[in-house]
Amino acid sequence: MLAIMNKQDLLTKSIKVLDKKFPPAADPVARPVLEEVLYAVVREGTTTEQANAVFAKMKGTFFDWNEVRVSTVPEIADAIAGVPDASRKAQRINEILHYVFEMYYSFELTDLDKKGLKQAGKQLGRFTGMTDFGVAWVIQRALGGHAIPLDEPTIRALRRLGIIEGEGEVEDLEAVRTSLEHYIPKSSGPTFTDRFSTLAVTICQEKPKCPDCPLRPDCPTGQEYGKKVAPEPKPKPKSR
Ligand code: SF4
Repeated sequence: MLAIMNKQDLLTKSIKVLDKKFPPAADPVARPVLEEVLYAVVREGTTTEQANAVFAKMKGTFFDWNEVRVSTVPEIADAIAGVPDASRKAQRINEILHYVFEMYYSFELTDLDKKGLKQAGKQLGRFTGMTDFGVAWVIQRALGGHAIPLDEPTIRALRRLGIIEGEGEVEDLEAVRTSLEHYIPKSSGPTFTDRFSTLAVTICQEKPKCPDCPLRPDCPTGQEYGKKVAPEPKPKPKSR
């Protein structure tokens, strides 16, 4: 188990290493709040590059958000094909658009943070179809707050690195997120999120590709992997 300071050091070092290994492919995109809410649905569990491509395709498929709202879930799923769990995500996009339209009678969410970020987070959390990842994503990317969105692949990589403890479903996701927000400075939040997603989706997969991983020297799981697959020592030649 890593001590508290070690976790902070490991995170700082990992962000630097991953930023070098996976330089950003494109400049960050500023989106209106509702668009960021919907983008977060597509982005959860995948990389920025994949989410950008799929989100652009979805926007090109429909005339506007109202057309997405009145479309069927299979039609939306077709438009976002290519991201993991596209059917469930299509359902969530549809639910969010219905909720927003019924609640605000428009697709503008410009006043969401007028009572502060905490209230905005609570309001977002009430949206049908929203997840903890989505709320944190919107706070980080659209509302200028400090929040660390955590999806399944990122949690898997952080566990293997020893930064998150335990197995199975995270019991108290909010507590885990809060401690990460304490270790990671606000200015590094988006870089952490993007680089760890890329690591988790491309290298630290269900079956990790540890030999290809730049974090292996500091990763307890990567070190164990090295021991398991270490080649058997060659038998010594028999003396005559
Ligand atoms: S060394 Fe292996 S287990 Fe550790 S972060 Fe990299 S891919 Fe994941």
